[in-house]
Amino acid sequence: MADDHPYDFIAVGVGPFNLGLACLTTPLGGVRSLFLDQKTEFSWHPGMMLNGTTLQNPFLADLVSMADPTSRFSYLNYCKQQGRLYTYYIRENWYLSRSEFDRYCKWVAAQLDNVRFHHHVQEIWHDPALPGYVVSGVYGPENRTFQFRSKRLVLGIGSVPHIPECCCPADASRAIHTANYLANKDALQQCGNITVIGSGQSGAEVYQDLLQDSERHGYTLNWVTRAQRFFQMESARLTLELITPDYGNYFYELPTEVKARTLDDQRSIYNGINHSLIENIYDTLDERRHRAALPARLLTNLALSQCERVPESGKWALQFEHAQLGQTYRHVTDGLVFATGYRYQLPSFIEGIRHCIRWDTTGRYAPSKNWAVDHENRDIFVQNVGLQSHGITNPDLGLACYRNSRLIFELTGRDFYPCEARTVFQDFAPGADSGFVQVEHKGSPQ
Ligand SMILES: Cc1cc2nc3c(=O)[nH]c(=O)nc-3n(C[C@H](O)[C@H](O)[C@H](O)COP(=O)(O)OP(=O)(O)OC[C@H]3O[C@@H](n4cnc5c(N)ncnc54)[C@H](O)[C@@H]3O)c2cc1C
Repeated sequence: MADDHPYDFIAVGVGPFNLGLACLTTPLGGVRSLFLDQKTEFSWHPGMMLNGTTLQNPFLADLVSMADPTSRFSYLNYCKQQGRLYTYYIRENWYLSRSEFDRYCKWVAAQLDNVRFHHHVQEIWHDPALPGYVVSGVYGPENRTFQFRSKRLVLGIGSVPHIPECCCPADASRAIHTANYLANKDALQQCGNITVIGSGQSGAEVYQDLLQDSERHGYTLNWVTRAQRFFQMESARLTLELITPDYGNYFYELPTEVKARTLDDQRSIYNGINHSLIENIYDTLDERRHRAALPARLLTNLALSQCERVPESGKWALQFEHAQLGQTYRHVTDGLVFATGYRYQLPSFIEGIRHCIRWDTTGRYAPSKNWAVDHENRDIFVQNVGLQSHGITNPDLGLACYRNSRLIFELTGRDFYPCEARTVFQDFAPGADSGFVQVEHKGSPQ
């Protein structure tokens, strides 16, 4: 399949970020776009579609509302079209369940004729004669080849499950990550004991899910973290002001080393466990005590340093270093779940356009403020790869509409979705009208 007429832009990957971009682009006349995803249909983290899990953001963080509340692709219009607006209203369900968000996204994707699933992008190269890019790969069940031309690109391919480096590659391929949890849950529950490593939201969800069933299946359970405590995700209003366009713009201008320190300090905003889940886990643990249930331990300060699969038994031999006591501990477990997050992985198709892209000193993209990564800041844009450059606003669904509105500005030259002039009450640096006058420049910030 070839199409010689170049698109204005091609977006690779259709997760929530590029899907939102597709929605916001659809009403704009004269913009020719194409969105490609290798999956056969939209699906959002299917391995973690656990009962009772919800989005961490209110429903307004749908695919469009924060840029265009009048869009026909809003969550409220989805409810209306499903004949469920009144039940949604009466239920006062501010935080959508994850499966509901997935259904909503599928509903949206089915209405967009510029979105094509089952299209795996394998190669991209620059063609100066166009000028632009050639995007090629395979599509459909028979893996037939396609080739499209485009003036610009938006790369929104998400990230991949991360297994700690101490787990050797041969073993890592057999390890279960939370991303594949549901597909492996039945097999895990046959184990005599299970260890969950990592104490973010996904680790907590898996621990709670396994905890509820542990007596029925008869396994012991360990939840291990290298952190000093199982900490709560911060959600105070003034802290949430850090997940706004204003804060993102402030953060972007900070020196690189200050950004790194700041991100470390903000871990509890983007990496903790939500309050209600901690309460549920605590309640469940407390109720189990009265039934003399099998142990379900929580262990802190233990950093995994070795992880080997014993070939004869299929068990996992783990070694941990205690972060404060300096002691080493060994533990053998039948079942092991890594709740150790995700990392961006450069796709192989990047090789054909590597020379067009600006890289930082560590080999990562160096995005402009408006997420361009090519040398001229006008051709190649990225979604959700700028934690170091753009801060905690980067992976957050609540900021997707803002980023997409800026991307549309860059892609079309028109500000179709202007943002509010001010999105916070606080000043991250005193403004000219604040009465706080800068007296001297003290060199690098402390
Ligand atoms: C379990 C879980 C729950 C989360 N919950 C929240 C939440 O409540 N609130 C929040 O703000 N954030 C949340 N996040 C973080 C973030 O919002 C999600 O990870 C989100 O899915 C990221 O969207 P994305 O579009 O960047 O990538 P993804 O959703 O990962 O989508 C990327 C897409 O690119 C496609 N792709 C990759 N390579 C190619 C290729 N070569 N060719 C074609 N297609 C390709 C993939 O098939 C995939 O569909 C959560 C993350 C996880 C893991």
